[in-house]
Amino acid sequence: VENPAVDWGQALASIESAVNPHIGSGKVADYIPALARVDPNKFGLAVALDGGEMHALGDADESFSMQSISKIFTLALTLKQIGDDLWERVGQEPSGSPFNSIVQLEVEQGIPRNPLINAGAIATTDSLVSAYGGGEAGADKAIADLLQLFRRLSQDDSIAIDLNVARSESDTGSRNRALGHFMASFGNMTNPVEAALSAYFRHCSLAISCRQLARAALFLAFDGTDPETGEQIITKRRCRGILAVMMSSGHYDNSGEFAYRIGLPGKSGVGGGILAVAPDQGTIAVWSPGLNQAGTSMVGSLALGELVKQTGWSVFG
Ligand code: GLN
Repeated sequence: VENPAVDWGQALASIESAVNPHIGSGKVADYIPALARVDPNKFGLAVALDGGEMHALGDADESFSMQSISKIFTLALTLKQIGDDLWERVGQEPSGSPFNSIVQLEVEQGIPRNPLINAGAIATTDSLVSAYGGGEAGADKAIADLLQLFRRLSQDDSIAIDLNVARSESDTGSRNRALGHFMASFGNMTNPVEAALSAYFRHCSLAISCRQLARAALFLAFDGTDPETGEQIITKRRCRGILAVMMSSGHYDNSGEFAYRIGLPGKSGVGGGILAVAPDQGTIAVWSPGLNQAGTSMVGSLALGELVKQTGWSVFG
Protein backbone atom coordinates (compact mmCIF):
# COMPACT_ATOMS: atom_id res chain seq x y z
CA VAL A 1 0.00 0.00 0.00
CA GLU A 2 1.38 3.43 -0.96
CA ASN A 3 1.32 5.82 1.96
CA PRO A 4 1.27 9.54 1.37
CA ALA A 5 4.21 11.24 3.08
CA VAL A 6 3.28 12.68 6.45
CA ASP A 7 3.89 16.37 7.08
CA TRP A 8 5.41 15.91 10.53
CA GLY A 9 5.62 19.59 11.34
CA GLN A 10 1.89 19.92 10.85
CA ALA A 11 1.06 16.60 12.50
CA LEU A 12 2.98 17.48 15.67
CA ALA A 13 1.44 20.96 15.81
CA SER A 14 -2.07 19.46 15.58
CA ILE A 15 -1.29 16.94 18.31
CA GLU A 16 0.01 19.73 20.53
CA SER A 17 -3.11 21.84 20.12
CA ALA A 18 -5.36 18.80 20.60
CA VAL A 19 -3.77 17.82 23.92
CA ASN A 20 -2.96 21.27 25.36
CA PRO A 21 -6.38 21.99 26.92
CA HIS A 22 -6.33 18.57 28.61
CA ILE A 23 -2.81 18.46 30.05
CA GLY A 24 -2.97 17.37 33.69
CA SER A 25 -6.25 15.45 33.39
CA GLY A 26 -6.69 11.92 34.69
CA LYS A 27 -5.46 10.38 37.90
CA VAL A 28 -1.77 9.73 38.52
CA ALA A 29 -1.04 6.21 39.88
CA ASP A 30 -0.55 6.53 43.62
CA TYR A 31 0.06 3.00 44.87
CA ILE A 32 3.77 3.77 45.30
CA PRO A 33 5.37 7.12 46.24
CA ALA A 34 7.73 7.17 43.23
CA LEU A 35 4.75 7.25 40.84
CA ALA A 36 2.52 9.45 43.02
CA ARG A 37 5.02 12.32 43.02
CA VAL A 38 5.40 12.56 39.23
CA ASP A 39 4.30 15.94 37.83
CA PRO A 40 0.83 15.35 36.26
CA ASN A 41 1.48 18.11 33.69
CA LYS A 42 4.17 16.19 31.85
CA PHE A 43 3.59 15.26 28.24
CA GLY A 44 6.02 13.76 25.76
CA LEU A 45 5.72 12.02 22.43
CA ALA A 46 8.21 10.41 20.06
CA VAL A 47 7.71 8.77 16.69
CA ALA A 48 10.44 6.50 15.33
CA LEU A 49 10.51 5.68 11.63
CA ASP A 50 12.52 3.42 9.37
CA GLY A 51 16.06 4.63 8.80
CA GLY A 52 16.48 6.31 12.18
CA GLU A 53 14.15 9.24 11.47
CA MET A 54 12.61 10.52 14.70
CA HIS A 55 10.03 13.18 15.54
CA ALA A 56 9.45 14.36 19.08
CA LEU A 57 7.32 16.67 21.14
CA GLY A 58 7.36 17.99 24.72
CA ASP A 59 9.03 15.93 27.45
CA ALA A 60 10.16 13.21 25.04
CA ASP A 61 13.60 12.93 26.65
CA GLU A 62 12.44 12.62 30.22
CA SER A 63 12.50 9.15 31.79
CA PHE A 64 9.31 7.65 33.19
CA SER A 65 8.46 4.30 34.73
CA MET A 66 7.77 1.82 31.97
CA GLN A 67 5.50 -0.43 34.07
CA SER A 68 3.31 -2.76 31.99
CA ILE A 69 4.78 -1.69 28.65
CA SER A 70 7.76 -3.84 29.67
CA LYS A 71 5.48 -6.90 29.35
CA ILE A 72 5.82 -6.62 25.55
CA PHE A 73 9.60 -6.93 25.64
CA THR A 74 9.46 -9.72 28.22
CA LEU A 75 7.01 -11.55 25.97
CA ALA A 76 9.28 -11.09 22.94
CA LEU A 77 12.34 -12.36 24.80
CA THR A 78 10.40 -15.31 26.27
CA LEU A 79 9.07 -16.36 22.86
CA LYS A 80 12.60 -16.13 21.54
CA GLN A 81 13.91 -18.32 24.38
CA ILE A 82 11.21 -20.97 24.74
CA GLY A 83 9.02 -20.58 21.65
CA ASP A 84 5.40 -21.63 21.47
CA ASP A 85 5.60 -23.74 24.65
CA LEU A 86 4.63 -20.51 26.40
CA TRP A 87 1.10 -20.86 25.04
CA GLU A 88 0.57 -24.06 27.03
CA ARG A 89 0.48 -22.00 30.22
CA VAL A 90 -0.76 -18.59 29.05
CA GLY A 91 -3.79 -17.89 26.81
CA GLN A 92 -4.29 -15.42 23.96
CA GLU A 93 -7.80 -14.15 24.76
CA PRO A 94 -8.76 -10.66 25.89
CA SER A 95 -9.80 -10.64 29.53
CA GLY A 96 -12.27 -7.75 29.68
CA SER A 97 -11.08 -7.39 33.28
CA PRO A 98 -8.81 -4.99 35.16
CA PHE A 99 -5.04 -5.57 34.92
CA ASN A 100 -4.68 -7.26 38.29
CA SER A 101 -7.93 -9.26 38.36
CA ILE A 102 -7.82 -12.74 39.92
CA VAL A 103 -11.37 -14.04 39.26
CA GLN A 104 -10.85 -15.66 35.84
CA LEU A 105 -7.82 -17.54 37.14
CA GLU A 106 -10.01 -19.82 39.24
CA VAL A 107 -12.49 -20.51 36.44
CA GLU A 108 -9.66 -21.22 34.01
CA GLN A 109 -7.64 -23.47 36.32
CA GLY A 110 -4.67 -21.17 36.83
CA ILE A 111 -4.14 -20.40 33.13
CA PRO A 112 -4.10 -16.61 32.71
CA ARG A 113 -6.11 -15.29 29.76
CA ASN A 114 -3.24 -13.47 28.05
CA PRO A 115 0.38 -12.43 28.65
CA LEU A 116 -0.45 -8.74 29.19
CA ILE A 117 -2.63 -8.90 32.28
CA ASN A 118 -0.54 -9.15 35.45
CA ALA A 119 -1.15 -12.89 35.99
CA GLY A 120 -0.13 -13.66 32.40
CA ALA A 121 2.93 -11.43 32.59
CA ILE A 122 3.99 -13.08 35.85
CA ALA A 123 3.62 -16.54 34.24
CA THR A 124 5.57 -15.34 31.18
CA THR A 125 8.29 -13.90 33.39
CA ASP A 126 8.39 -17.21 35.29
CA SER A 127 9.05 -19.03 32.00
CA LEU A 128 11.77 -16.55 31.15
CA VAL A 129 13.41 -17.03 34.55
CA SER A 130 13.39 -20.81 33.95
CA ALA A 131 14.96 -20.30 30.52
CA TYR A 132 17.87 -18.62 32.33
CA GLY A 133 18.38 -21.49 34.77
CA GLY A 134 15.61 -20.74 37.27
CA GLY A 135 15.49 -19.36 40.82
CA GLU A 136 16.88 -16.01 41.95
CA ALA A 137 20.02 -16.52 39.85
CA GLY A 138 17.85 -17.15 36.77
CA ALA A 139 15.85 -14.01 37.58
CA ASP A 140 19.05 -11.94 37.75
CA LYS A 141 20.29 -13.36 34.44
CA ALA A 142 16.96 -12.82 32.70
CA ILE A 143 16.85 -9.19 33.87
CA ALA A 144 20.47 -8.62 32.83
CA ASP A 145 19.70 -9.91 29.35
CA LEU A 146 16.49 -7.91 29.07
CA LEU A 147 18.33 -4.75 30.09
CA GLN A 148 21.05 -5.46 27.56
CA LEU A 149 18.40 -5.93 24.85
CA PHE A 150 16.85 -2.57 25.76
CA ARG A 151 20.16 -0.78 25.68
CA ARG A 152 21.03 -2.30 22.33
CA LEU A 153 17.63 -1.56 20.77
CA SER A 154 17.42 1.99 22.05
CA GLN A 155 21.11 2.56 21.29
CA ASP A 156 21.51 4.00 24.75
CA ASP A 157 23.64 2.33 27.44
CA SER A 158 22.30 4.60 30.15
CA ILE A 159 18.92 2.84 30.37
CA ALA A 160 18.51 1.36 33.84
CA ILE A 161 16.08 -0.17 36.27
CA ASP A 162 14.91 2.18 39.00
CA LEU A 163 15.63 -0.05 41.99
CA ASN A 164 13.76 2.30 44.28
CA VAL A 165 10.59 1.72 42.21
CA ALA A 166 11.29 -2.04 42.11
CA ARG A 167 11.54 -2.14 45.91
CA SER A 168 8.26 -0.23 46.28
CA GLU A 169 6.58 -2.55 43.76
CA SER A 170 7.63 -5.46 45.94
CA ASP A 171 6.62 -3.73 49.21
CA THR A 172 3.11 -3.12 47.81
CA GLY A 173 2.97 -6.34 45.75
CA SER A 174 0.39 -8.35 47.74
CA ARG A 175 -1.96 -8.71 44.78
CA ASN A 176 0.80 -9.80 42.41
CA ARG A 177 2.02 -12.27 45.06
CA ALA A 178 -1.53 -13.61 45.36
CA LEU A 179 -1.72 -14.07 41.58
CA GLY A 180 1.61 -15.93 41.61
CA HIS A 181 0.63 -18.24 44.48
CA PHE A 182 -2.81 -18.85 43.01
CA MET A 183 -1.22 -19.99 39.73
CA ALA A 184 1.27 -22.07 41.74
CA SER A 185 -1.66 -23.85 43.42
CA PHE A 186 -2.71 -25.05 39.96
CA GLY A 187 0.84 -26.09 39.13
CA ASN A 188 1.34 -23.17 36.76
CA MET A 189 4.57 -21.77 38.24
CA THR A 190 7.96 -23.33 37.65
CA ASN A 191 9.99 -21.22 40.07
CA PRO A 192 9.46 -20.07 43.64
CA VAL A 193 6.89 -17.24 43.32
CA GLU A 194 9.36 -14.75 44.83
CA ALA A 195 11.96 -15.49 42.15
CA ALA A 196 9.48 -14.86 39.31
CA LEU A 197 8.20 -11.73 41.05
CA SER A 198 11.66 -10.32 41.67
CA ALA A 199 12.16 -10.36 37.87
CA TYR A 200 8.62 -9.07 37.21
CA PHE A 201 8.97 -6.13 39.63
CA ARG A 202 12.32 -5.20 38.10
CA HIS A 203 11.22 -5.22 34.46
CA CYS A 204 8.18 -3.09 35.38
CA SER A 205 10.60 -0.61 36.99
CA LEU A 206 12.66 0.17 33.91
CA ALA A 207 13.04 3.91 33.47
CA ILE A 208 12.83 5.02 29.86
CA SER A 209 12.04 8.11 27.79
CA CYS A 210 9.59 8.30 24.87
CA ARG A 211 12.45 8.66 22.43
CA GLN A 212 14.24 5.58 23.82
CA LEU A 213 11.04 3.53 23.94
CA ALA A 214 9.96 4.34 20.38
CA ARG A 215 13.45 3.46 19.15
CA ALA A 216 13.60 0.21 21.16
CA ALA A 217 10.23 -1.01 19.86
CA LEU A 218 10.97 -0.36 16.19
CA PHE A 219 11.54 -4.07 15.44
CA LEU A 220 7.85 -4.63 16.20
CA ALA A 221 6.89 -2.40 13.26
CA PHE A 222 9.21 -4.23 10.87
CA ASP A 223 8.35 -7.91 11.20
CA GLY A 224 10.63 -8.57 14.16
CA THR A 225 13.82 -7.10 12.65
CA ASP A 226 15.44 -3.83 13.70
CA PRO A 227 15.30 -1.85 10.44
CA GLU A 228 18.46 0.11 11.14
CA THR A 229 20.84 -2.61 12.36
CA GLY A 230 19.22 -5.54 10.54
CA GLU A 231 19.24 -7.60 13.77
CA GLN A 232 16.39 -10.08 13.90
CA ILE A 233 14.93 -9.87 17.39
CA ILE A 234 12.08 -12.32 16.81
CA THR A 235 10.60 -14.10 13.80
CA LYS A 236 8.02 -12.43 11.58
CA ARG A 237 5.34 -14.88 12.69
CA ARG A 238 5.94 -14.22 16.39
CA CYS A 239 6.12 -10.48 15.82
CA ARG A 240 2.69 -10.56 14.22
CA GLY A 241 1.45 -12.69 17.11
CA ILE A 242 2.67 -10.14 19.66
CA LEU A 243 0.95 -7.32 17.76
CA ALA A 244 -2.29 -9.34 17.68
CA VAL A 245 -2.14 -9.79 21.45
CA MET A 246 -1.43 -6.06 21.90
CA MET A 247 -4.43 -5.24 19.71
CA SER A 248 -6.79 -7.51 21.63
CA SER A 249 -5.40 -7.17 25.17
CA GLY A 250 -2.98 -4.23 25.39
CA HIS A 251 -5.27 -2.05 27.48
CA TYR A 252 -7.05 -4.55 29.74
CA ASP A 253 -10.78 -3.76 29.93
CA ASN A 254 -10.23 -0.72 27.68
CA SER A 255 -8.74 -2.74 24.80
CA GLY A 256 -11.83 -2.73 22.56
CA GLU A 257 -12.33 1.01 22.79
CA PHE A 258 -8.63 1.65 22.13
CA ALA A 259 -8.70 -0.63 19.07
CA TYR A 260 -11.81 1.10 17.74
CA ARG A 261 -10.51 4.61 18.24
CA ILE A 262 -6.79 4.21 17.49
CA GLY A 263 -6.71 1.17 15.19
CA LEU A 264 -3.12 0.29 16.09
CA PRO A 265 -1.73 -2.35 18.45
CA GLY A 266 -0.70 -0.67 21.68
CA LYS A 267 0.32 -1.22 25.28
CA SER A 268 -0.32 1.00 28.27
CA GLY A 269 1.54 1.25 31.56
CA VAL A 270 0.40 2.86 34.83
CA GLY A 271 3.44 5.13 34.68
CA GLY A 272 1.45 6.96 31.98
CA GLY A 273 3.31 5.62 28.95
CA ILE A 274 1.67 4.12 25.88
CA LEU A 275 3.50 2.33 23.09
CA ALA A 276 1.72 2.01 19.73
CA VAL A 277 2.97 0.23 16.62
CA ALA A 278 2.13 1.11 13.02
CA PRO A 279 3.31 -1.92 11.00
CA ASP A 280 5.70 -1.01 8.15
CA GLN A 281 5.60 2.64 9.25
CA GLY A 282 7.05 3.09 12.72
CA THR A 283 6.41 3.26 16.44
CA ILE A 284 4.92 5.89 18.71
CA ALA A 285 5.74 6.32 22.39
CA VAL A 286 3.72 8.80 24.36
CA TRP A 287 3.80 9.72 28.05
CA SER A 288 1.53 11.69 30.31
CA PRO A 289 0.98 10.50 33.89
CA GLY A 290 -2.80 11.07 34.38
CA LEU A 291 -4.70 7.78 33.84
CA ASN A 292 -8.25 6.75 33.00
CA GLN A 293 -10.16 4.01 34.90
CA ALA A 294 -8.34 1.23 33.03
CA GLY A 295 -4.87 2.62 33.79
CA THR A 296 -4.28 4.09 30.32
CA SER A 297 -2.83 7.60 29.99
CA MET A 298 -5.67 10.00 29.22
CA VAL A 299 -3.69 12.67 27.41
CA GLY A 300 -1.48 10.00 25.81
CA SER A 301 -4.55 8.36 24.37
CA LEU A 302 -5.85 11.73 23.09
CA ALA A 303 -2.49 12.38 21.43
CA LEU A 304 -2.62 9.01 19.68
CA GLY A 305 -6.15 9.77 18.47
CA GLU A 306 -4.90 12.96 16.83
CA LEU A 307 -1.79 11.23 15.49
CA VAL A 308 -3.76 8.55 13.62
CA LYS A 309 -6.05 11.25 12.27
CA GLN A 310 -3.07 13.22 10.96
CA THR A 311 -1.13 10.25 9.56
CA GLY A 312 -3.98 8.04 8.41
CA TRP A 313 -2.20 5.11 10.11
CA SER A 314 -4.35 2.08 10.88
CA VAL A 315 -3.89 -1.68 10.63
CA PHE A 316 -7.32 -1.80 9.03
CA GLY A 317 -6.27 -0.48 5.65
N1 GLN B 1 3.77 -2.85 38.19
C1 GLN B 1 2.36 -2.72 38.01
C2 GLN B 1 1.66 -3.89 38.66
O1 GLN B 1 2.13 -4.98 38.52
C3 GLN B 1 2.06 -2.67 36.54
C4 GLN B 1 0.63 -2.43 36.23
C5 GLN B 1 0.40 -1.67 34.95
O2 GLN B 1 1.21 -0.91 34.44
N2 GLN B 1 -0.80 -1.80 34.44
O3 GLN B 1 0.68 -3.73 39.34
